[in-house]
Amino acid sequence: MSLLQLRRLHAFYGVIEALKGISLTVDEGEIVTLIGSNGAGKSTTLKSICGQVKIQGSVLFGGKDVSAQPPHQIALEGIAHVPEGRRIFPRLTVKENLEMGAFSVKDKKQIRERTERAFAYFPRLKERYHQQGGTMSGGEQQMLAIARALMMQPKILLLDEPSMGLSPILVEQIFEIIQELNRGGMTILLVEQNAYQALQVARRGYVIQTGEILMEDEAKSLLSNEQVKEAYLA
Ligand code: ATP
Repeated sequence: MSLLQLRRLHAFYGVIEALKGISLTVDEGEIVTLIGSNGAGKSTTLKSICGQVKIQGSVLFGGKDVSAQPPHQIALEGIAHVPEGRRIFPRLTVKENLEMGAFSVKDKKQIRERTERAFAYFPRLKERYHQQGGTMSGGEQQMLAIARALMMQPKILLLDEPSMGLSPILVEQIFEIIQELNRGGMTILLVEQNAYQALQVARRGYVIQTGEILMEDEAKSLLSNEQVKEAYLA
């Protein structure tokens, strides 16, 4: 059984149908990537899973249909969303941002342990512990956004364009961390415009175009597919 399964999912913004019946699965322990051009529906797919858009069809998580649940309940099920543009709390410190990520945890000791675990992946954040989030670099803010999501010990991470706007070195670092998280057992659904690097780290990929799944395959096969090369890897 897949950890996450979308079945004939439609998403709507008013009368605009942004997703036209997409189906996809993510198995436990996988990195799956969703690639496609601007406006194809990648972000909408992640928002649909999190209960942030109006949908039809089903979202099964661990076999349970969560599509009618409110966003905070879906988060508590173990689905963490790191939205595009790393929406951290700019006026709060790194420490406070991380604590917000563990909103459902009351035990201080548990919060400390989770913070330490997040620092193992992001040592830079430890150095910035008391700094205001908004004063850090783009890369550090992206790291904070991911670390904050980890604070709820999710079963799956939905990452929306984590490499966006970062320098090449930081892009490398972010993809390195994504792989490390996965080696540590984290299941990841990764949305990227940087299709080449996303397919390098993923096991499987889906190509989405105007709200429909155009192709799905092993990431390796997509990397060598002529149509994919021409449209997304050029
Ligand atoms: P990008 O990389 O530009 O974010 P994307 O593949 O993530 O692209 P989405 O943001 O999911 O694409 O957008 C899918 C479609 O839904 C687009 O046609 C977009 O214009 C439309 N759309 C997205 N958000 C809204 C909104 N809040 N209101 C109306 N239409 C929207």
